[in-house]
Amino acid sequence: MQVPLLDLKAQYRTIRQEVLAQINEVLDSQVCIGGPKVEQLEKEIAQLCGCRYAVGVSSGTDAILNSLMSLGIGPGDEVITTPFTFFATAGCIARVGAKPVFVDIDPDTFNINPALIEPAITRHTKVVMPVHLFGQMADMDPIMQIAGRASLAVIEDAAQAISATYKGRRAGSIGTCGCFSFFPSKNLGGIGDGGMVVTNDEALYQRLMILRNHGSQPKYYHKYIGGNFRLDPIQAAALLVKLPYLEKWSKARRKNAAYYTKRFEGTPVRTPVISEDCVSIFNQYVIRVPRRDELVAYLKEKQIGCEIYYPVPLHLQECFAYLGGKEGDCPEAEKAAKEVLALPIYPELTDEMKEYVVQTILAFYS
Ligand SMILES: *Cc1c(COP(=O)(O)O)cnc(C)c1O
Repeated sequence: MQVPLLDLKAQYRTIRQEVLAQINEVLDSQVCIGGPKVEQLEKEIAQLCGCRYAVGVSSGTDAILNSLMSLGIGPGDEVITTPFTFFATAGCIARVGAKPVFVDIDPDTFNINPALIEPAITRHTKVVMPVHLFGQMADMDPIMQIAGRASLAVIEDAAQAISATYKGRRAGSIGTCGCFSFFPSKNLGGIGDGGMVVTNDEALYQRLMILRNHGSQPKYYHKYIGGNFRLDPIQAAALLVKLPYLEKWSKARRKNAAYYTKRFEGTPVRTPVISEDCVSIFNQYVIRVPRRDELVAYLKEKQIGCEIYYPVPLHLQECFAYLGGKEGDCPEAEKAAKEVLALPIYPELTDEMKEYVVQTILAFYS
């Protein structure tokens, strides 16, 4: 049997006619930039998150970049974040000229450890950027308290967690703003790149809208230096088809996760820990295992897709060497990087596929 890490074709087969019809509408209208599809998607995502505003952007990366730019973050500023995340989180901080400050993770949830944030705050700190990794939200209450005391903005990198909740509140709706990605492998994935920023702050919303389009307002008058961070209406059209299925798909992922977790009980496989405050959307199902790299080779041989998210914590990346990070700075992130492995969790997995994954892993350890 073959079990890919993700099978986008399996999902597309179920919505093909709807997607084609929506895309045709865009093509027939020849509204090729912005327009009603983008506005409709913004409205629906704002509603989903319980936020007043949403701004469609060109990618999750540009959602973060635009957020930092709109908050006026730049040279001399520091942004506290996690080293155990996709590169874009910290890449954007560096791209606006600010300094990423990495604090270690909670080994159970892989998310930033709130207890380590306060000691990392200096008079240069402007923002805390928690990441809701693998679909589970970070522990937002203490993060918001610490940020509030120090008057820091909070940017939620919710690229992997759209519609996930923390104490009943949606990802992206708790901080100053929240950033989503519609990269095809995310729970709500487009047919190319796309992203969104949500916020309840009207002034920030205005800045996000202006900077998305070269800082132009009115047209050809540039008060700020922005970029081209616009969301493509063809992406918006495809996403409008997929959005009504998001809850169903996330439920199916949770069901798959529950299956794995039950089957791995009492084995060397450490299964994901989901806080009782959180409902995860399981963008990834990430286990911790001994002899991880040997297991990866074994699974490849058995035609089971898997991936290491993430093999190198960001404080040890070559491009951040100038920050002076070294082995031992974030021991939990470093340990996680050596033990984690993401298994297939996508909604269309069959019972046979899941059982094959379980049996193969158990065979490796027996
Ligand atoms: C996917 C992702 C991003 C970047 O999103 P793109 O749409 O690929 O630019 C940022 N942060 C995290 C945590 C992500 O998983």
